[in-house]
Amino acid sequence: MEFLIASHNIKKRDELQRILAPLGFSVCLAMEKGIVLNDVEETGETFEENALLKAVSGCADSMMPCIADDSGLCIDALDGRPGVYSARFMGEETPYAEKMKAILAEMRDVPPEKRTARFVSCVACVFPDGRRFTVRGVCEGVIGSEPRGENGFGYDPIFMVGEKSFAELSSGEKDALSHRGNALRAFAERLKEFI
Ligand code: IMP
Repeated sequence: MEFLIASHNIKKRDELQRILAPLGFSVCLAMEKGIVLNDVEETGETFEENALLKAVSGCADSMMPCIADDSGLCIDALDGRPGVYSARFMGEETPYAEKMKAILAEMRDVPPEKRTARFVSCVACVFPDGRRFTVRGVCEGVIGSEPRGENGFGYDPIFMVGEKSFAELSSGEKDALSHRGNALRAFAERLKEFI
């Protein structure tokens, strides 16, 4: 079975392919099929809602089984911010170095034991016959006192898991414990009920 990914991100395609190929599934991007995806406004208040909005729309555009994800960083001391607004925090065009600087400044006086945070990833899957499901993966960590490491993307340099930030891990190490890795493994397990 082939799934369309409701994203233009080749890295997401590769990540899904790595996990789903051993189970006998393949994935593709819309552009690889000549399919045009309608833009989706992420109006949901939860990761699940936004992932479903994207998967429902992608399925309608393609009439293929469609997978979409939504993810973000939830910081306890900031009441869960930036959360579903992680990409849009301070504007999509603002460099992550500046977004992280602003977060660290806001958390300047927060003591280590209160710097808890988690990355959350929700993956939604929608079939042309209307069946659908969502799964969630979480990775717990703390917000460091300064950005560390060169790997990864987004908020990785300020998210500490034990002694290292996400940006100090190799991609294999990150996959093994990340929110997205956990969500995709849950996804692969759940998918077995639908085939
Ligand atoms: P999405 O593409 O709408 O799911 O937006 C996710 C946003 O959450 C990204 O743009 C990042 O800001 C943040 N994010 C999600 N996962 C990660 C991660 O693994 N590392 C760093 N930032 C992440």
